[in-house]
Amino acid sequence: MIRICIICICSTYQRQASNHFQVTLYQSNITAIVGAQWGDEGKGKITDFFAGNSDYVVRFHGGNNAGHTVIVDGETYKLHLIPSGIVYGSPVSVIANGVVVDPKALIDEIAYVINKGINPKLMVSDRAHVIMPYHIALDSVLSGHQANLAAGSTGRGIAPVYADKMFRNGIRVVDLLEPNIFKEKLIKGYSFSKNLIEKALGGTFDISMDSIYDDYIEYGNKLSSYICDTAVELFNAHKSGKSILFEGAQGISLDVDHGIYPYTTSSNTAAGHISTGAGVSFRDIGKIIGVAKAYLSRVGESPLPTEIHGDEANELREKGAEYGTTTGRPRRVGWLDLVQVRQAVRVNGLTEIALTKLDILNGFKTLPICIAYEVEGKQVKEMPASLHDYRCAKPIYTSLPGWEDLPNNIWDMGFDALPKTMKDYISYIETEVECPVKIVSVGPQRHETILR
Ligand code: GDP
Repeated sequence: MIRICIICICSTYQRQASNHFQVTLYQSNITAIVGAQWGDEGKGKITDFFAGNSDYVVRFHGGNNAGHTVIVDGETYKLHLIPSGIVYGSPVSVIANGVVVDPKALIDEIAYVINKGINPKLMVSDRAHVIMPYHIALDSVLSGHQANLAAGSTGRGIAPVYADKMFRNGIRVVDLLEPNIFKEKLIKGYSFSKNLIEKALGGTFDISMDSIYDDYIEYGNKLSSYICDTAVELFNAHKSGKSILFEGAQGISLDVDHGIYPYTTSSNTAAGHISTGAGVSFRDIGKIIGVAKAYLSRVGESPLPTEIHGDEANELREKGAEYGTTTGRPRRVGWLDLVQVRQAVRVNGLTEIALTKLDILNGFKTLPICIAYEVEGKQVKEMPASLHDYRCAKPIYTSLPGWEDLPNNIWDMGFDALPKTMKDYISYIETEVECPVKIVSVGPQRHETILR
């Protein structure tokens, strides 16, 4: 393990610092859960598994383009914006500043959970950016300009709202509570996007600014009781020893910096983004769990070296119910790619892996695992930045023997009771990516989980 020390070379500062500042060390009760592949790894289930012991469950990036499915006592919850922890009732669910919020979608999702009998304890960051109707319109116009050099958009305005944030055209949640400021910012944002859609991109945008203004002031009123400075709330919670769980959306290969650009999402999915996306220092995070599916699935475009087709692919897709939670699109499927998981371990600083959906591999005679790529005759063990290299990457597989069906109550029997071939599969992964698999998931329900 590499330890990184930041050494302050200004000795005067060091002397003053030791005289004037008290360094308080809080024991870390902060855990992060992030996707180690393309998203849809089962983060919702793993988050839900830990949420019962958490005081806060926090989303720190993305928007309602994400989709988590949590099944508790046979009841299915499909969530897009609110953290999965809401299903537990007791933790506070936090939508932090790095998330982009479609207020109408949020109001609908709040109604959905209330309808399921949950009283939502929810906090929404006053600094989170707001998805406006012109972002959604822009998304649809832009999709025609992306050709096949993009992941395929969910059409929810996510890329345009993040772009507007960087253009400094954005409207933040707090603005919905301040009509005059909101109007000032709306005039700027509206005219920019309308011109972009109509004059630059040849589309149309017919919704009037007045009706947007009225709707969004109304949304602000409806959400006002949830809006606060969530970074301060989380800081104080951590200081007083409360436990905090960060719930990542999507996965490392969709990270806008570290993923297969431009086939990525529009935000940073890596754990490092917790610092800026929630205002909680990375120094305070104790445990970083990467969720990896025992095979691979992917919604949307991009080269996918371990993709498979035909009968085995159909079997994996059907058994694994590999259809998008948000879009319903059939997912592409393939074998586990450890080049990808290796990157997830390194970039996120994973302390452990949660390996999900092992039960879906029941009955496969052999299980190929990709350990490296061959790119133009060379063996490559790390994700290439070059799109050319990624397009020509051919998987180099090791094949391991599979296992038969698992007993129904395998989760009750503990890790040692797992078939030897499954334990070998797990141990092979650990050795290749240098990270322990501490959580094994063998079914969609909360209790179908084995801890080591
Ligand atoms: P997320 O976006 O990472 O939260 O993943 P999704 O919710 O989109 O997809 C995961 C799906 O797999 C959900 O329907 C889960 O209920 C289901 N799931 C999670 N873990 C397991 C598992 O170990 N076995 C099976 N069969 N299903 C699982």
